Amino acid sequence: MTTIKLSIVIITISASLIAAAGLYKKTNDDSCSDTDRFCTFEDLSQEYSEGEDWKVETRRASSGLLVSAIHGGGIEPATSQIASAIAGESHNFYTFKGMLSSGNFENLHIDSTHFDEPEALEMVDAVNDHITIHGAEGEEPKTLIGGLNRELAEEISNQLNSSGFSVKKAPDHLNGEDPDNFVNQPKSERGVQLEITEAQRESFYKNGDTSFSSRNDASNQTSAFDDYVGAVKAAIEGES
Ligand SMILES: [Zn+2]
Repeated sequence: MTTIKLSIVIITISASLIAAAGLYKKTNDDSCSDTDRFCTFEDLSQEYSEGEDWKVETRRASSGLLVSAIHGGGIEPATSQIASAIAGESHNFYTFKGMLSSGNFENLHIDSTHFDEPEALEMVDAVNDHITIHGAEGEEPKTLIGGLNRELAEEISNQLNSSGFSVKKAPDHLNGEDPDNFVNQPKSERGVQLEITEAQRESFYKNGDTSFSSRNDASNQTSAFDDYVGAVKAAIEGES
């Protein structure tokens, strides 16, 4: 009798656990990332207006390289400017910019494995190589490097090190190794992701000021900005 009751209890608990696991997965899929408000660009664009709340900026070049910042504008401050400077006139450039007066990250950040703004997908699809610029938290000036293009990542690390910048392998949650990550969407299916800490990005502007008005005036950029961009460019040229 006791054995039967115990079996029933075990079966009931097992069934509940299986059901809970299924439910958890579904909930998780629906919300995409715990911290993101929107799962897809479609959802975001139904709530927020192009030109007022966000915008896309691009430049096209005949190069097989795209340099992008999908969390640009106020989402991860200064990443648009860094990506644009690295791309220069020679390479393709894409940025998605948050333009809200506050709460850009909380409202407009779509994580890299779900980011699906159509022009971004079209541009990355057309190139062989891809470098993405992101902003990470952190009070130490450094770059957390990731993505599946290990050769180019190594070259960029070496160049940044030679110019006096600290580069570390990104921790698992920022490593950009998921094949579904936007960084790994070019034809080669591998790119390089640079997660630049807040302290490092602040070093690129006079008085450490990465506010909207400061970063949109190129005269506020420090020599560290130019050195950093120059090092990444040198790595790109070394590889091509
Ligand atoms: Zn990011």
